[in-house]
Amino acid sequence: MSKTVFITGASSGIGKACAEVLAQEGYNLLLCARRFQNLEEIKGRLTTLYPQIAIHIFELDVRNYDEVKSKIEGLPAEWKNLNVLINNAGLSQGLDPIQDGDIGDWDRMIDTNVKGLLYVTKTVIPFLENQEGAHIVNIGSIAAKEVYPNGNVYCASKHAVDALNQAMRIDLLSKGIKVTGINPGMVETEFSEVRFKGDIERAKNVYTGIEALTGKDIAETIAFVISRPKHVNINDLIIMPTAQA
Ligand code: NDP
Repeated sequence: MSKTVFITGASSGIGKACAEVLAQEGYNLLLCARRFQNLEEIKGRLTTLYPQIAIHIFELDVRNYDEVKSKIEGLPAEWKNLNVLINNAGLSQGLDPIQDGDIGDWDRMIDTNVKGLLYVTKTVIPFLENQEGAHIVNIGSIAAKEVYPNGNVYCASKHAVDALNQAMRIDLLSKGIKVTGINPGMVETEFSEVRFKGDIERAKNVYTGIEALTGKDIAETIAFVISRPKHVNINDLIIMPTAQA
């Protein structure tokens, strides 16, 4: 029987690439994000390419616990047996020294990257228990491993994800759920555009002179991680563009 993967933040970038790569590998897909139109486009295209898989999409803001709980618990019964959760929804906003930081930016990063990940995980754990190949993949960042100038709150939020990877591995051991942290360096997605609040010029400059990773590079790594035998867990990976220091 095909396995089912739930991907948060599937409307663009790494999440969308995971949907594309895992559809090709034959996984059924449960996809969420706030931009439902993007999800509809992805579902339409992947259903045409891979008619043998099932895809269910729904709009979700991971920052709202009541919404997370009611929408995930309210899923049709056939979507409540999950094998893999990819906690990918996340963002960076602003790149300022802490004394100039915008509190709204801080809230958005902590609410999405940390609290959102926790809300989804707590709600989904019952659907993963006792499932074959049960696995939670948390998208951290190189910012989970180091702090760079003006990265303060984003780095803190991703360091929290790193801590949660370790905590989840301990807590979920008895439930047979594997946990893996995936920590990319620079990936060319909408990430920079979101960080610089739609300043496309500034966003594009980030990638000048460096061959960044693609969402597909990350997705293919995740496909490998979740296909290891039952007794093998890859705890933590850092994936960098070769040219990024
Ligand atoms: P994108 O901006 O392309 O994708 C981010 C995704 O997160 C979108 O699908 C967005 O969907 C979703 N999202 C954001 N906020 C919410 C929310 N409140 N509720 C639900 N979904 C949300 O960037 P990436 O693909 O690059 O980012 C994916 C992950 O990778 C993030 O966790 C990011 O921190 C991490 N990362 C990215 C790196 C990079 O260089 N690009 C490097 C290291 C880590 P929507 O707006 O439709 O809700």
